[in-house]
Amino acid sequence: MQHMGYLTKLPGVPDRDDVKPGMAHFVGSLGDPSKTCGDCKWRGYYRKGRDKVNPHTQLIESKQVKTMGCREFLRLTHRHGPPVFSEWKACKFFVEAPDDQKRR
Ligand code: SF4
Repeated sequence: MQHMGYLTKLPGVPDRDDVKPGMAHFVGSLGDPSKTCGDCKWRGYYRKGRDKVNPHTQLIESKQVKTMGCREFLRLTHRHGPPVFSEWKACKFFVEAPDDQKRR
């Protein structure tokens, strides 16, 4: 069920329905409906995973884990956001990814 906002909706002005958690800006704020987060260079990066003690060496080891969060969201907020879906319409911080890195 979609939440019905109680404020007046103005054409062309984003509101709470255009907010997706983890996105750097409003959905579709790029203005090109053919571009999505799946085409964006900033979707997906490696972050630090859990530390583990190696039972053989007794040393603490860290792993890198892949997240499908938005790197631009991390840069702006200094927090890791939830994964952004590849089909969401691109925001104004969109940067075209090279063809071999696009994830649809
Ligand atoms: S279009 Fe790019 S910068 Fe914008 S939310 Fe999606 S992945 Fe992040």
